[in-house]
Amino acid sequence: MRDPTASAANDWAEAALGSIRAHALALTPRNFAVWYEYHRGCQPDLNRVIDILLGNRIRLEDDKLAEIHARFVGEPHGYLALRGTAQRIQQTISDVLALLHEAGQDANRFGLAVRSASGQFASKELSIEGLIRGLLTEARDMTVRAEQIEAELARNAELLKTLQRRLDDTRREALTDGLTGLANRRHFDETIQALAGQAMNDGMELSLLFIDIDHFKDVNDQWGHLVGDQVIQLVAATLRERLRERDFAARYGGEEFAILLPATPLPEAAAIGDRLREAFARHRVVVRDSHQSIGTITVSAGVAGYHPGEPLAEWVHRADRALYAAKQSGRNRVVRDEAAPAG
Ligand code: GH3
Ligand code: MG
Ligand code: MG
Repeated sequence: MRDPTASAANDWAEAALGSIRAHALALTPRNFAVWYEYHRGCQPDLNRVIDILLGNRIRLEDDKLAEIHARFVGEPHGYLALRGTAQRIQQTISDVLALLHEAGQDANRFGLAVRSASGQFASKELSIEGLIRGLLTEARDMTVRAEQIEAELARNAELLKTLQRRLDDTRREALTDGLTGLANRRHFDETIQALAGQAMNDGMELSLLFIDIDHFKDVNDQWGHLVGDQVIQLVAATLRERLRERDFAARYGGEEFAILLPATPLPEAAAIGDRLREAFARHRVVVRDSHQSIGTITVSAGVAGYHPGEPLAEWVHRADRALYAAKQSGRNRVVRDEAAPAG
């Protein structure tokens, strides 16, 4: 879910240790990471895989966990592809440099041939015909080489363009949430830094809105995970539709969304949150295929303004705390963090 408060992180760590003991696994960083993620509950696919294994009474051996780790916890596969592509680009650039080096050497050789021939001509060792023949041969050789080099360069330029496109695609994938097409948590973490930096520079107010679906577990329990997924997609689509061009919405965790609102003072951000909240509460949600109505869903939201210079984790924590307060005070509401800047 959201950035762990110290006590939540502690609980997840305790629970992870408990699971490692319960399944008689070795206490390795990898096994710990998998169980920690499981108890953190932000990766429903990881939880689903483990639940299915447990449900079928399949023993969780170290190698099974290694597989799960590679799939969900380790480096995202997009990044591995990215690294491969970057290496190919590096290789291509060195090939091009080698070609240019050869071309330079050819030109030097030609220069030397001209100089030596003109020396010989001056000292009468060479006739004018001899001089012209020699230079023509050298020039022809150089032209042939130059054409070869040009063709090679053209091929490499195409390859570089293709690789660049692949790199862009892979990067986009690595930053996008697969279920909703919104920015993912990694993208959010990059963007919050960039926007906070920008807010410090331009002195504009920057707000952060956390939105979490209310009683979402009940939706899953009553209608199943697939319908749950559709509800998450619906919330994402609504955000995409209703937010302004400059706003940045991300799927922060399971059924929780984080929205960065540049040049937006806290009261305006709260009003935007409230309009979104109302939009959800007004509409009945209908299952895509069966057209069955599952009633309305509501969301709760917490909003906090950035205090220039404060640690980002602190800001995120304030928005998260406001969301928690919205849940505690009855859900289907937006709560503002009212903390004044320190100092
Ligand atoms: P609250 O009002 O307090 O937020 O209650 P809640 O039921 O929404 O509680 P909580 O946030 O703890 O539960 C979120 C649930 O969302 C738990 C998890 O199984 C489910 N979930 C997380 N990610 C996904 C997903 O991608 N798809 C589906 N279908 N369910 C998910
Ligand atoms: Mg919820
Ligand atoms: Mg939640």
